[in-house]
Amino acid sequence: MKIEIQSFDELKKQYKLSDNEKAFKASKNSLTVSITKHYLSLINLEDEKDPLRIQVFPSVLEENENNLENIDPLFEINNSKSSRLIHRYESRVALLTTDICPMYCRHCFRRRFTGKLLGPISNKEIEEASIYIQKHPKITEILLTGGDLLTLTNSKLDFLIKTLRERNPKLIMRICTRMVITAPSRIDAGLISIFKKYKSAPFYLLTQVNHPRELDSEAIKAINQFVDAGIPALNQCVMLKGVNDNFDTMEELCNKLLFNRIKPYYVFQGDLVSGTSHLRVNVDRTIEIEREMRKRLSGLAMPSFMIDLPKGGGKVPLSACYLKSFNDNIYTFITLDGEEREYPHI
Ligand code: SF4
Repeated sequence: MKIEIQSFDELKKQYKLSDNEKAFKASKNSLTVSITKHYLSLINLEDEKDPLRIQVFPSVLEENENNLENIDPLFEINNSKSSRLIHRYESRVALLTTDICPMYCRHCFRRRFTGKLLGPISNKEIEEASIYIQKHPKITEILLTGGDLLTLTNSKLDFLIKTLRERNPKLIMRICTRMVITAPSRIDAGLISIFKKYKSAPFYLLTQVNHPRELDSEAIKAINQFVDAGIPALNQCVMLKGVNDNFDTMEELCNKLLFNRIKPYYVFQGDLVSGTSHLRVNVDRTIEIEREMRKRLSGLAMPSFMIDLPKGGGKVPLSACYLKSFNDNIYTFITLDGEEREYPHI
C-alpha cells in the first residue's frame, strides 16, 4: 500500500509558513519532516496555531537549548538489551520494530531513534528478541513499537508475530501505532487477518490521538476494524501546549474516544526530550486539567494522567492529592468540590 506523504520542501512550496516554521533548518540532529496527505487534509492551513498543524509542522523552536533536556530522558539506551529491545520493567519489553513513521510528530519522545533511516527490524533481530523473552519467563507483554509498527509490510508483520509467538505462545502483544489516524487506509482486511491467525494470547491496540479532530470518520473506521476483530483499543495521548491543554478539548477528546470504543488509557506529561520544550505543558497545569477531568468525565472516560520520570525513573501517576491528613486515626480527604470529609482508620 502506498501512503502519500508531503516533505518539508513540498510544504514550503505549497503553503504559507509562519516565521518559526520558515526559520526551521533541517540538520543531522533534527527530526525528519514528513506529513501524510490524510493528516494534512485535517489541518486548517489558514491557522498558524492549528492544534494539528503544530504537532507536525517543524519549528525553529526545536533548536532551543535547555540543559534539563536530553535525547534519551527515559534512559532507554541504558535499559536496552540490543539496539531494538528495551527491558525496563520486569513484566514487559518494548521492541523497536522500525524507526520509520509515515509522519513525524514534533513532540516524539524517541527522536534519538525515529526517522534515522535504519529501516525495519531484521529477521535475525526478531529471532534474538524471541529467544531473549523465552529466557525471561517473567515477561508477559511486549510493546511492538518503533517508529510505527504498521509501516512494516504484512509479510514482515506476520513473520514477527509468528516468531515471537512460536517460543512465547502466552505473550500479550501491544500493537503501538499512530497510523490509524495518520494513514487510516493502511488498515484493511488483509492486515486484520494477520492478527486473527494468532489466538494463543490477546492483542491490544495502543493509539495516540491527541486532539478530537484527529478522530475523523476514516480513523474511527480504521480503529473499529481492530475492535470488531476482538482487539480492544486504548489511547495514550500526550499533553501538548496549544493542542489539548484546555479543559474543553480534553473533555471532548476523552468522550469522543470512549464513544467510539477506544478507552482513554493514559495522558502523558511531555518527556524532557531535546527540541520539545515549546510543546511541553507545565506540571501544575497538567494537574489542574486532571482535577477538572475527574469532575467532568465518567470513570470509564477518565484516563490516568502519568509522568515518566527522568533518568529511567519509570511511570508514576500525576494527580492532585485528595488525602489531606491522617491524625488521631482519622483520614481527612478533600472532595472534588474542595470540601473536607473524614474516614476512620479501621
Ligand atoms: S508516530 Fe510515534 S514514533 Fe512516530 S514520530 Fe509520532 S510519536 Fe514518534
